[in-house]
Amino acid sequence: MKEIYFDNSATTPLSSAARAALNESADIYANPSSLHRLGFESQKKLEGAREAIAKTLYCDKSEIIFTACGTESDNTAILGGAEVFSAMLKKEGVPPRIITTDSEHPAVSEPVRILENKGFEVIRLSTKKGVLDMAEVTKAATKNVCLATIMHTNNETGAVYDLKSVFSVIRKNSPRAILHTDAVQGYLHSRIRPSVIGADLISISGHKVHALKGIGVLYKKKGVRILPFMAGGGQESGFRSGTENLTGILTLAAAAKDGFDNFDIYSERIRNVRNALISALSEIDGVHFNIPEKSFSENILSIQVEGEKSEVLLHKLSDMNVFVSSGSACSSKKGKSGVLRSFGLTDIEADRTIRISLSHMNTEEEAHFFCEALEKVRNKVN
Ligand code: PLP
Repeated sequence: MKEIYFDNSATTPLSSAARAALNESADIYANPSSLHRLGFESQKKLEGAREAIAKTLYCDKSEIIFTACGTESDNTAILGGAEVFSAMLKKEGVPPRIITTDSEHPAVSEPVRILENKGFEVIRLSTKKGVLDMAEVTKAATKNVCLATIMHTNNETGAVYDLKSVFSVIRKNSPRAILHTDAVQGYLHSRIRPSVIGADLISISGHKVHALKGIGVLYKKKGVRILPFMAGGGQESGFRSGTENLTGILTLAAAAKDGFDNFDIYSERIRNVRNALISALSEIDGVHFNIPEKSFSENILSIQVEGEKSEVLLHKLSDMNVFVSSGSACSSKKGKSGVLRSFGLTDIEADRTIRISLSHMNTEEEAHFFCEALEKVRNKVN
């Protein structure tokens, strides 16, 4: 029976480009730090991959730091970024302030909570209907802000926040702040130009863009100071010690190049599947869309299905080889996430919400099959 995989925000299958890189890299085993010929060859591959990824982020290759995942990139940016300023601000007798949102992934909200417990003041901007309130941003952007960490694309609703406007207000009013964005869900679904959005630090994860798991990237703008999160052999310009995961890096470079070079084609494919889903789902009684009010990523479609709880629907769909998620897969095992409440849903609405997340590998035929499966399942559960 055909599998319909609509859970691409949780993770993605390997692209054919990444699979080819994986096969090719199976024999590249030397440590890039080794001084012999094999080591030099690995080093060359590593730097080639860095260059390929830098191109997809419109930046210099010296601004790319390889990490193990999006979570590590977020932790490095937040804990390493805030630490630089905390001593200075504490000396001045002003509590160091962090600006974030009420809808961040735990990879951001948890390190922020650690800093809050250490005495940092945290302002969590509201994200009702997937939009940031500029008046709140202006009020929050005081001189003592040391870090702003605001996600690019929300993993549960697909909301894309207006980072350009938000970061420009914070940059103007809080000149010492380091500006970080978690772009794990936005990368290769939006064109991300650090100089346009005004970010100093950007987190990316390989397994969300059809590369292997266990590889991430932290973009760090030239000259931006953070303290390294991992101490050791000094790899990655001292910002991420530990022997590089060259296999993961090569799959990410291949997947990223494929996604970047085919950006328009892949975006159109996703749009067509989304449109097919929306028109078919609109015909089904009791289906409601949680669409962000302004900007959103077309690969994430959050819907409410009246009747059973989303977990029940999810398992019934899974029995039919159709795979979706209830909210964010990364946090769903830990219990309810507050993101949908922050979006403006009631508890009942949030409990009946499922997330459909697409990739360029999905088809319109799958969209129709999904809607048929949903109708069958609902007839069974109601
Ligand atoms: N940030 C966001 C927005 C995510 O959606 C995820 C994973 O779902 C992460 C961070 C964590 O990324 P990783 O699984 O690579 O640690």
